[in-house]
Amino acid sequence: MKKCRVLALLMILTVVGSFRAYQVLNPHLELSNREAVVTLVLYSDLPESQALSRQLERFRCDGVACVQTALSEVIENEFKRHTSGDTSLKVNVVEPKDNRLFRVDHSGTGWRRFRFAYKLYSEFSSRGASFFGSDVRIFVNISNYDPQSYVERSLGSANLRVGMVQWDVGDFQNIYMWNITKLVHEIGHTLGASDKYTSAAKSIFPGGYVEPELGEGSNQQFVEIMSGTRPSGGQEELEPKHYSELRFSRVSASEMGWVTQN
Ligand SMILES: [Zn+2]
Repeated sequence: MKKCRVLALLMILTVVGSFRAYQVLNPHLELSNREAVVTLVLYSDLPESQALSRQLERFRCDGVACVQTALSEVIENEFKRHTSGDTSLKVNVVEPKDNRLFRVDHSGTGWRRFRFAYKLYSEFSSRGASFFGSDVRIFVNISNYDPQSYVERSLGSANLRVGMVQWDVGDFQNIYMWNITKLVHEIGHTLGASDKYTSAAKSIFPGGYVEPELGEGSNQQFVEIMSGTRPSGGQEELEPKHYSELRFSRVSASEMGWVTQN
């Protein structure tokens, strides 16, 4: 009798375990009619300062510019626009703890890859955040990056649906908007969308265009999220001024499994 119960428990654990593994490894996150949870774990090497609290205000939604609202609105509105369906995005924020940035060491292969995945999991659990309770996991490094030696290290992967974003400190609206753009861009990667810009930082046609029917090089009204800038009809591509300009192209929507490409 007791043996039976142990066996049943083992079977339940195996089924639940493989279901979890399937959810984690499946790149196409089912968003339709459900709440998806994005967890942002924040890190910062800034001293306790006004600069840091001004950034945290944006994650606490104390001020006018609120990170959670921007992310939820962009994803929910874009999902609606592409699929006519509804989804809801819940953004959890875990505030910085011990004055350090999150470091990505090479994920490698085999055992090292497993160890790296375990590291990601432990970073979450040590901060009281649930790795498996989140659909998308983003590590955000808040720092005063030197513009002279700036190297963009933000990244996102559909494998485990994890990403990292370099969040630059600054009071200018354009720096804040660029941080938001990177955040949505990396979330796009975790959902399966690929980059849509060239090495010369130009939007790739047609995938990097929200309105490709206007033609290559045309003045675009919206910024394709996986491109990050919008063609302006001239030489320069422009960064978004407000998150309402951020949209996924049909190509990106199809890569995320929202629509079938035709
Ligand atoms: Zn990218």
